[in-house]
Amino acid sequence: SWGNVPAGPPDPILGVTEKFKADTSPKKINLGVGAYRDENGKPYVLPSVQKAEKLLYEAKGDKEYLPITGLAPFTKLAAELAYGKESIPLKEGRLAITQSISGTGALRIGTAFLARFYPGAKAIYLPSPTWGNHIPIAKDSGLEVKQYKYFDKDTVGLDFEGMKQDIESAPEGSIILLHACAHNPTGIDPTEAQWKELSDLFKKKKHFPFFDMAYQGFASGDILKDAFAVRYFVEQGHQLLLCQSFAKNLGLYGERVGAISFVCESPEEKSRVDSQLKIIIRPMYSNPPIHGARLVSAILGSPELYEEWLVEVKGMAERIISMRTKLYNKLVELNTPGEWGHIKSQIGMFSFTGLKPEQVDKLAEKAHIYLTRDGRISMAGLNSGNVEYFAESVSKAVKG
Ligand code: PMP
Repeated sequence: SWGNVPAGPPDPILGVTEKFKADTSPKKINLGVGAYRDENGKPYVLPSVQKAEKLLYEAKGDKEYLPITGLAPFTKLAAELAYGKESIPLKEGRLAITQSISGTGALRIGTAFLARFYPGAKAIYLPSPTWGNHIPIAKDSGLEVKQYKYFDKDTVGLDFEGMKQDIESAPEGSIILLHACAHNPTGIDPTEAQWKELSDLFKKKKHFPFFDMAYQGFASGDILKDAFAVRYFVEQGHQLLLCQSFAKNLGLYGERVGAISFVCESPEEKSRVDSQLKIIIRPMYSNPPIHGARLVSAILGSPELYEEWLVEVKGMAERIISMRTKLYNKLVELNTPGEWGHIKSQIGMFSFTGLKPEQVDKLAEKAHIYLTRDGRISMAGLNSGNVEYFAESVSKAVKG
C-alpha cells in the first residue's frame, strides 16, 4: 500500500555513525556526532545534573501535564540566562517565552510563527553553510530558504565582506538567521566589533534577527561572552527572536529541553504573541515534557548548583579548547602542508578542518577515522588518547 513512497536519502551524519559502528578496529574514532565526550571518549552526565536528579527524586513531584508554554520557573530562568537578569524587555514584561522541545523545537515554533505572522516575504536567509537541519525546519514551516555568504574556503575563515553584501542586498525587512555563538558547522563566529557592524546594518535595512543559540557557555566557557551578540542586539533595540537549547551546555541531549522567546514592543503585544504561540503549539505536541525543565530549573535556580554548573560547562569548553591546541601543535610539528591556525581560532564543538572529501575518504579507509565529507570534525570526539593518532593520520592524508 506504500508503493508510492520513494526511499529518502540517508542522513549524512547518522551515516557516519553507522560506518563507525561497523568498523572493528580498536583504533577507530567517530568525529561525526555533535555530542560531548569526556577524556575517555564516553558520554558525560554533569555532576550538577546528577545532584538535581537526586533532588527531584526526593521531592517526589507528580507527573501532571505542564501548561502549553511549559514550566514557568524554567522559562523565567532560561530568559535570565540568555538576556541577563537586568535585561530591559524582561523587566518591562515584554518578553514572550515558551518552553520547547529543545533547540530544534524552538526553531520549528519560531519558523511556524513567522510563516503565519511575519509581514512581507515569507523567506528566511540562512548562512552558507549552516546546520543542516535549519533548511528542512524552515521549509516544513512554509518559509522559503535563501542563503547569505558566510564561509571563506580560501582563508578557512569568515567571509565578512560577502556576508555584509548579501545582508545589504536582501530586500528590506528580511528574516535573517544568525548563530549566536559557535557557528555550526564552521566554528567561525563574527568578532564583537563585527557583531556591532551587523547590528547597524540590520537597523538600516530593518531586517529581523532570528537568533539560534544552541551553545551558550559551551562555546567559550563563559556564559556572558557567548551571549554577547544576543544581548548587544537587544540593547540596540532589535525586536529579535531567540531559540535556546540546553542539550549541549547541560548535557541534556535526550531530555529535549529548550525555549523560544520574542522580544516584543509592549506587555500588550507580548500577550498577543503568547496567545498565538499557544495556538501553534497545541496541535503540534500539546505541551512539553516536564523532567528536563525541572532539572534545568533546579540547577539555574539554586545558587550552589548554578556555581557548580558554571565550573562544569567551563570544563567541557576548556577540554575542547585544549584539544584544539594539541591538534594544531602536532599538525605543525609533523610539517603538515597548509595553514592550520583555524583549528585553534575556531569556536565550539566543531572545527571545519578544510580537509577535502577524498582526504576524508582516505581517513576512513586507511585510519578508521570517521567524519562528514565536508571536513567537519566534532572536537569533542578527540582526547589525549587519540589526538596524536588523529593528527598523524591527517598529516598523512594531506601529504597524499
Ligand atoms: N541549532 C544548532 C546550530 C545546532 O547545532 C543544534 C544541535 N546540533 C541545534 C540547533 C538543536 O539541537 P537540539 O534540538 O538537540 O537542542
